[in-house]
Amino acid sequence: MSEVRVRIAPSPSGNLHIGTARTALFNYLFAKKNNGKFILRIEDTDAERTSQEYIDNIFDSLKALGLNWDEGPDVGGDYGPYTQSERFDIYPKYAQKLLESGFAYECFCTPEELEAEKEEATKNKKPYVYTKKCENLTEEQKEKLRAEGRKPAIRFNISKAQKAFHDSSVLKFDDLVKGELHMDTSLLGDFVIMKSNGTPTYNFAVVIDDMLMKISHIIRGEDHISNTFKQILIYEALGAEVPRFGHLGMILAPDRSKLSKRHGATAVSEFVEKGYLTEALINFVALLGWSPSDGQEIKTVDEIAQDFRIGDVSSSNSIFEYDKLNWMNSHYIKMLDIEDLKERLKPYLTKYDLSEMTDAQYTRMIEVTREPLTILSDITDAVPYFFGETVEIDPKAQAEVLDTEVSQNVLKEFVKQAEGWSFDEETLHEKLEAFRAQFKELGIKPKVTMWAIRAAVTGRTCGADMTAILAILGKERVMKRVKNSIK
Ligand code: GLU
Repeated sequence: MSEVRVRIAPSPSGNLHIGTARTALFNYLFAKKNNGKFILRIEDTDAERTSQEYIDNIFDSLKALGLNWDEGPDVGGDYGPYTQSERFDIYPKYAQKLLESGFAYECFCTPEELEAEKEEATKNKKPYVYTKKCENLTEEQKEKLRAEGRKPAIRFNISKAQKAFHDSSVLKFDDLVKGELHMDTSLLGDFVIMKSNGTPTYNFAVVIDDMLMKISHIIRGEDHISNTFKQILIYEALGAEVPRFGHLGMILAPDRSKLSKRHGATAVSEFVEKGYLTEALINFVALLGWSPSDGQEIKTVDEIAQDFRIGDVSSSNSIFEYDKLNWMNSHYIKMLDIEDLKERLKPYLTKYDLSEMTDAQYTRMIEVTREPLTILSDITDAVPYFFGETVEIDPKAQAEVLDTEVSQNVLKEFVKQAEGWSFDEETLHEKLEAFRAQFKELGIKPKVTMWAIRAAVTGRTCGADMTAILAILGKERVMKRVKNSIK
């Protein structure tokens, strides 16, 4: 195949999972690296589990991560429609072709009959594979079953395809990530490709779509390896070119179990809501199975694309280290341009009245509070004392700082002196230095002096730069708060 065409094919039965985002990214990178096309296909054949809300979430999350597709349900392309439920008229044709060539057969078994077969296998401690009971039904027998009102499903004849295209019952392929993989396909059992209600199963629809959409490389999770063997045989039975496959290791939680809600966020949109930057998220997921050649982990998607080779992707599982993501996110927050950061923090400041501040004051507030932020939502609890006339005093600040005699003396003196100060930062800086020096002469440590002022003005024992806080609040509010703290 000349042109590289890859795809991400999520099933909209939930919000876009961070693991799917990694698969999407690796496909996207592979396309970029090879001047190929990245395609989005929505696999919504399971109507019961599908919802428009999830489809929208998939679109929004991929876009937010910058993983824009060249062809897809919304942007179209030469091989549409790109939503499986709009392709239902395509699949029966190919199933018919397989029936005619003998690589598929009609199966009239009822769910009860299949259940009985399964029980029998369990009783004999054998893994269940379909018994091929319907493989050789005569036309007469089929007519009779139809007359009973039975509607057939269509099954793919694994052993027949295996025999037709391979020397033994072992099927091999060269995986882009894992190297040679093989399987004895007699263990697979003839699987249904079209259900009796006329809808295709995943393994069939995916082959037909990948074939018609001219997908050249299929990069996806290793949980699909056993499907890949089935799918290769379908391609062969249809006389189609088999694409190359690459299977990625799984993403595990730090405790090595499957990453799930109990470990924290798992959907891209959940991470975004909490205040992870999409730049950090995408950089972080790139490192789940791939490492940069120069060891420099902080990279944009474009930089990663330069360096990315699918053969370098690790074949083993990766651990989703939330701590590392946090570190990376705080790094990205530190690197953000202030105007950009100001905008991105606004959704987390809705409980405050930002109109109390000028833009300059807002800028300064963010400048002095951004340093310790791990996620954007940390800002909510970092800034309450910048708003309102009075301030809520933390019990610890009250007991350990404000209630002491030394603090009371500092505050009384502060009220006396600060009345005459100008409250711009430069002046405040000088005045506070002199103020501290004055108390130091009396044997009071500078930090003790500052604690008293901080506790009275912010209600806390630690926080942003004091000079900036006083300047932003202004003389009137500072004096009011300090006076409130004097007994
Ligand atoms: N819809 C399938 C899934 O979400 C796609 C698997 C594939 O890439 O073939 O798991």
